[in-house]
Amino acid sequence: MYAYMDRLTLRDLEPYERKIYDKQQIERITDWVVDLDATARQLRLRSGRTLAYDHLLLATGSAPRKPTWKGLEKAREGVVHFVSLQDLQQCEQLTRSTKQAVVAGGGLIGVELVECLRFHGKRVTFLVREPWYWPVALGGVEAEMISDHIRRHDVDLRTDEEVAEVSVDGNGRVSGVKTVGGREFACQLLGICIGVQPAIGSARAGQHPATNGSRHSGFRLLRHFVAQCLGCRRL
Ligand SMILES: Cc1cc2nc3c(=O)[nH]c(=O)nc-3n(C[C@H](O)[C@H](O)[C@H](O)COP(=O)(O)OP(=O)(O)OC[C@H]3O[C@@H](n4cnc5c(N)ncnc54)[C@H](O)[C@@H]3O)c2cc1C
Repeated sequence: MYAYMDRLTLRDLEPYERKIYDKQQIERITDWVVDLDATARQLRLRSGRTLAYDHLLLATGSAPRKPTWKGLEKAREGVVHFVSLQDLQQCEQLTRSTKQAVVAGGGLIGVELVECLRFHGKRVTFLVREPWYWPVALGGVEAEMISDHIRRHDVDLRTDEEVAEVSVDGNGRVSGVKTVGGREFACQLLGICIGVQPAIGSARAGQHPATNGSRHSGFRLLRHFVAQCLGCRRL
């Protein structure tokens, strides 16, 4: 968030000073794991390199939940999430060509994205599906105070509004959303902040040798890998 608001550099986001890794004899590799062979205890990286291990910790974080809104699949540009460094870069790149934004999802990530977009002077409609902002944490009275504050920052905060449909322009860029209640909001940037799920894409992709080639759901496969790494049959 503070990087998007030009208050921190990307280097500031690094959790430790770089010299620590050498000092602690930790080899850092910037690459993606694309395959995991738990039987051979080996990882394959996107660069083609392989890495052997005795013990493996999977700490791949989370990925944005993807809704099934009508028309969303046609959007080739203008849809953003706010979870990864790649999301940040995409937000920064699209901000320049955005006048109006819609942010869907009334949680902490949603409000952070709203704040960043307001910082950059964009008109923002903030769609909250529930009757008030952040119901998992706030009661109605407290939420009303927070909502007043959000609105004082010129955010068009709408409660009881859920996206039903996404429209795109001739170039495939998002041009607006329609809600279940039938309201339409124009936008060139749509922020989807409706929660996250485990980032197990590479595990899900696999018909993995370690699973005898049979297809598994992401969770089952991940559990299988974790169990193998821990040296037990089942988790
Ligand atoms: C906008 C935003 C604001 C937040 N603010 C706060 C806050 O103020 N306070 C707070 O406590 N929490 C906050 N959080 C939550 C916090 O960032 C997460 O809970 C935390 O980062 C989770 O840590 P993690 O190590 O599990 O996953 P991550 O930090 O997501 O790390 C996972 C890593 O795995 C990498 N990875 C994934 N797949 C592969 C692969 N196949 N090969 C190689 N690498 C891979 C990813 O690139 C990433 O580097 C915020 C989150 C967001 C999105």
